[in-house]
Amino acid sequence: MAKQLDYHTIREIFTRFHASEPEPRGELEHVNAYTLVVAVALSAQATDAGVNRATRELFKIADTPQKMLDLGEEALIEHIKTIGLFRNKAKNVIKMARILVDEYGGEVPNSRAALQALPGVGRKTANVVLNMWWHYPAQAVDTHIFRFGNRSGVCPGKDVVAVERAIEDNIPVDFQRHAHHWMILHGRYTCVARKPKCAACLIRDLCQFEEKTL
Ligand code: SF4
Repeated sequence: MAKQLDYHTIREIFTRFHASEPEPRGELEHVNAYTLVVAVALSAQATDAGVNRATRELFKIADTPQKMLDLGEEALIEHIKTIGLFRNKAKNVIKMARILVDEYGGEVPNSRAALQALPGVGRKTANVVLNMWWHYPAQAVDTHIFRFGNRSGVCPGKDVVAVERAIEDNIPVDFQRHAHHWMILHGRYTCVARKPKCAACLIRDLCQFEEKTL
């Protein structure tokens, strides 16, 4: 784990991320808050591209909790059976739809506690939804952010909660909203797991990783 970088270095890193992509976006396709929650919940241990392939048709016919209930679990399974853990995920999506219809009038709640109480929605999913839909500076730490944060020293931590805290404590407030997507995209395409592309990395002079591939 790299040492925590200082404020000025982190500000420079995010200034560069901002210059290269001012409005970074997540890659999970969705048409409203409900389909975003479903897509994020389906993406656990699956790639965004794989989830998008499955949900493109699904969301055309089931883009609200009531329509998901009308579709039913068996038909839902047919749509998502290419995604890992699809049976369990289908069960949770149906249970979640039932709660949203019965307790929230078919709307998605915008508090972390309420989101996390939904079946199949953990802390990471709740944070992604709060960040992407309501633009809260919520930080969802996935495998890409965890790897990048620990290699670079932007937000090192021994577990995801520690990395989440490091992001909140150390990334300048004006960069917090987009920090999530900048770091995910950087981890997914540049600071990749096996052989990071350090020679092409726009922060290679600031990153603390000792085994850079230069
Ligand atoms: S220099 Fe290499 S290790 Fe550091 S952030 Fe860039 S790609 Fe990752």
